[in-house]
Amino acid sequence: MPFMALKPRILIVEDEPGIADTLQYVLATDGFAPVWASTAEDAIAQFTAERPALAVLDVGLPDLNGFELFRRLQALPGGKQVPMLFLTARSDEIDRVVGLELGADDYIAKPFSPRELVARVRTILRRSTRLVVESTMAPTTSAAPILAIWALDEERHQIRFYGKALELSRYEYGVLRLLVQKPGRVFTRDELLIKVWGDANDSFDRTVDAHIKTLRAKLKLVAPGLEPIRTLRGSGYALSEGLPATAA
Ligand code: CA
Repeated sequence: MPFMALKPRILIVEDEPGIADTLQYVLATDGFAPVWASTAEDAIAQFTAERPALAVLDVGLPDLNGFELFRRLQALPGGKQVPMLFLTARSDEIDRVVGLELGADDYIAKPFSPRELVARVRTILRRSTRLVVESTMAPTTSAAPILAIWALDEERHQIRFYGKALELSRYEYGVLRLLVQKPGRVFTRDELLIKVWGDANDSFDRTVDAHIKTLRAKLKLVAPGLEPIRTLRGSGYALSEGLPATAA
């Protein structure tokens, strides 16, 4: 059955059999090849045996927490190329996912709808394919200064603010890159979700706000007195145009 090989392998790391069963069922129904690991140790073995197209990691595992497992998987050969999505049960876990700069691709809070999870998996896989294509096809450009205050280096996925390189997660970079390219232009949450995350769904509004929050915290470290990202109540976010030439 050669077509089986074309199904993207999805590693599900989840210690609750009920959730794992549901996930395997919906993913298999949707054309994926799910594999289940109930512990971090098992996950590392499965990941090593065959690198999955994507991994879904429960944060609360019996042997290691999902964050630590994420780090270990990333350290394996090719681990950084595998998109990973966290399943979180508590809001403080969500804050850690967003705030810790793990570089995970997304998270889903429990309880979640299996349909939503499959949609996210699809979006992430579509996007990671597209990113590879874009980076292969993009013309070579070096760091292009947008403003003296901001410098965007699309090749390195790096943004400098007042000359200081920001340590950004993939989505923080995506959001700030859009804002920096069009100072003053208002981006709605839906627009950011579509352009940065690849889909729009009202229930993910919190995702945008959480990333804006962590971005602001990082910008504050460089320029404590400034508010480089403006909130336009009811409409969205924009890059402030009135920043001073130097960070005081
Ligand atoms: Ca669990």
